Order: sequence, then C-alpha cells, then structure tokens
Amino acid sequence: MAAPWDLPDYDDHEGVHLFHDPDSGMRAIIAIHSTHLGNAAGGMRFWHYPDSAMAITDALRLSRGMSYKNAMAGLPMGGGKAVLLADETRTKTPEMLRAFGRAVDTLGGRYVTAEDVGITDDDMVVIKGETDYVSGLPVEKGEAGGDPGPSTALGVFLGVKAAVNRALDQDSLEGVHVAIQGVGSVGGGLARLLAEQGARLTLADTVDARVAALAEELGADTVSVDEILFVDADVVSPCALGAVLDADSIARLQCKAVAGGANNQLATREDGGRIFERGILYAPDYVINAGGIINVGLEYLGQGDRAEVEARIGKIPERLEQVWQESAATGDPASTVADRIAKQLIGR
Ligand code: NAD
Repeated sequence: MAAPWDLPDYDDHEGVHLFHDPDSGMRAIIAIHSTHLGNAAGGMRFWHYPDSAMAITDALRLSRGMSYKNAMAGLPMGGGKAVLLADETRTKTPEMLRAFGRAVDTLGGRYVTAEDVGITDDDMVVIKGETDYVSGLPVEKGEAGGDPGPSTALGVFLGVKAAVNRALDQDSLEGVHVAIQGVGSVGGGLARLLAEQGARLTLADTVDARVAALAEELGADTVSVDEILFVDADVVSPCALGAVLDADSIARLQCKAVAGGANNQLATREDGGRIFERGILYAPDYVINAGGIINVGLEYLGQGDRAEVEARIGKIPERLEQVWQESAATGDPASTVADRIAKQLIGR
C-alpha cells in the first residue's frame, strides 16, 4: 500500500494517524490537515471502503476540506477528519466507539471529533466517556451544539436562496424547482425548509421508504438516484456523498445552479472549471455546508448560544456572494476562488 504522502490528495497534511484496537476490531484513520488557526476540528465518518488507500484518500480530502471550511466560517479551528472503518456488515459497537475515543485522546486535543455520515449524537456520548475532545453532544434547547445536521441544512437552505437570487435574479423561492440528491439529515432538513417557502421539489434517495415518506409529507416528486442530478430543475442540491460532479455528470446537468450540502462534490479540481464553463453557478461545498461545524465548533469552544450559531450561519450567503463576485470579476471558477481565499486564511 502506498504511504499517505504518495497519494494524490496528500496536501502537506500535518499528520495522518492510523489506529487499530484488536480487542474491539476498531480501525480508524485520523487526518490532520492544518492546525494553523487552532486545533483541528472535523467529524468522524463510519463507512465501508473497498480498500485502505480509498479510506486514507477520503480522510485526506475531507480533512483538507475541513481546514478550508473552518477558515471560511471564521472559526478559530484547524481542519481534521476521522474515518472509522466499517466491515461489510457495517456493525458498529460501543467497544469500537470507546476504542476510537481513546485514539482521539492520544492526540491530546490536536483533533476534536464530531458526527459525520453513519455517526449519531448518541455515539458521541459513548466517545465522550473516553475523551474530552468531542463536540456534537446532546444539548439543552437554546444552547449551541448537538446534532450538526439541522444547522447544516439551515446553512444550505440560505445558500440555495442566495444561489437563486444570483442565478435566477429573484428573492422568493416560491415555485423555484430544486432537485435534492439524498434526503437524510441534511437533504431532508433542506427539503422541509424549502417546502415551507413554496419551492417545488424533486427528491431521490437510495432508501426508497425514506424518500417516499418525505415526498408524501411535502407533496414532492421523486425520481431514481440515477436521474436526480439531471432533472431539468433550477437548482440541483447534492446532499448524499462526494465526487458526484465529474466530466460526465457535469456535461449532463440541466440546472442553473448547483448548491448542496455534500462534502467534496467535485470529483477533481478541474471539475470546478467544467461547471463554470457550462455557465452553471456553483456554491463551493465547504462554504455552503459550514452550518454544522459552526454549531459544534461554538459548542466545543464554549462561545455563544443557539442565537449566535444562527447569526453566524446567516453569514454563509455573504461569503458565497464574495466568492461569486470575485469569480465574475476574475473569470476564475468559484471553486478556485474559494480555495484561494481559504488557503490565504490558513497561511498556505
Ligand atoms: P445522512 O446519512 O443522514 O444522509 C445521506 C442520505 O443520502 C441518506 O438518506 C442516504 O440513503 C442517501 N444516499 C446515499 N447514497 C445516495 C445516492 N447515490 N443517491 C441518493 N441518495 C443517496 O448524511 P447527512 O448527515 O445528511 O450528510 C449528507 C452529506 O452532507 C454528506 O456528504 C456529509 O459529509 C455532508 N455534510 C453533512 C453535515 C452534517 O452536519 N450532517 C455537515 C457537512 C456536510
């Protein structure tokens, strides 16, 4: 197997840590991209990967994204990410979570964990039994923190509104057609917020029962997971997994804007240029989906309450506007502009 620094996504990461606990079977990778702005914060993903190189690549890409995301969100935190490796049965045990908590603790706070795909706030409580370097714990109403999903959904909703404003030149979401790929924590929350504002929705998810129930609740249409990106909608919102925007899918997009919550939507950096060349407005993923880390970051730092979290999430449209304006002025893709601003902020 190649060493992490031989992989194409290695970006002078400060550290890539591999952990194994034979008793519980826990295997995890914790990648720390940058601690320039503070301790590295980012969620842990529980996922089955075909091979170790793919798992390390995911940790490398996701942790770099967290450096950029935290910097763009104005948080005094660096970027890191963990992947907890699932086997084919995807069995997650409390022993594995506790062993993961001990692994996090060995890093002495350089990495602070939270939920990501496949992990719940109850899992965070188990991990908290082994380490203090945890956020996303259940909180009382009105406090910062807890499940980051609804905060991410709120930020993506505001970002979709900003994209509609820029790409369609309209303030209202009434009748605006949004196609959402993945209706889990983020996509489902986004769908409800959009429906409240009168948007027309088309939804898809690999879990048939989930998408059917939500479509009935909101009066939305559904299509297959193979069709959702190519719906003739105003906005396409990827809210499932990453790398969905590549040369092939971008060529088939029919929307005016892509604005969604999934991390690492672009398969390669060149794909940001491909969207731009098609004249489709793109909301860089780590800018639009920062709501969750704002929520758990303020929880961990002990700064502010829910009102402060929402005020900071409310600034996501301004940051997107800044990126889009610079993109229009320079002729560089929005993804390139966002990377440039983020890199400056983290001193690279
Ligand atoms: P989730 O697991 O709750 O939801 C993901 C949904 O996508 C599930 O319903 C799943 O069935 C569906 N799905 C998976 N593959 C699909 C496919 N090919 N087509 C359609 N649907 C598919 O996860 P989530 O917390 O909602 O996160 C969604 C995305 O947003 C991930 O990329 C995650 O990294 C990113 N994200 C989440 C947060 C957060 O706060 N939860 C924050 C930032 C970014």
